[in-house]
Amino acid sequence: MDDQGGSIVSRLKELLDGQQPPPWNWQELTAEERRAELEDLAEWVAELQEGYGRWVRIPPCWPLHRALLEELAVFWYWRQRLDQAGDALPEEAVRWHQALRMSARDWAEAFGGCRHASTGEVDERRDGRQARLEASRRYLDQAIERLTG
Ligand SMILES: [Zn+2]
Repeated sequence: MDDQGGSIVSRLKELLDGQQPPPWNWQELTAEERRAELEDLAEWVAELQEGYGRWVRIPPCWPLHRALLEELAVFWYWRQRLDQAGDALPEEAVRWHQALRMSARDWAEAFGGCRHASTGEVDERRDGRQARLEASRRYLDQAIERLTG
């Protein structure tokens, strides 16, 4: 990472120092806490599918799809917040439902019929960031030139 990026990151860290990460950020959790969160999330996802089966079709392999897992976790925490906030507005509850249906369409498109046999983003341990960054290098350099030149 270059100096500028590093300084932005360290500045953000300074600003966020002492603050709790949002609940969907599991980086600070212990392995046991992560396991507990994932188990609770899985129960909620099963309940979600039961109640919204017509709209929400999620493949059983969802816990292994990194992006799907993260998005479902965000919906879960959002819903918990809504259910616990005494001053929550009905508009926000409607927004939650609308956002859920919209995301569910995307999930169905991306993961419908997943047999979990292909590669792609499936492997949560795979890390192709460096290769992707290198593939974008010359475009990134051009963009930097435009921004700074
Ligand atoms: Zn899958």
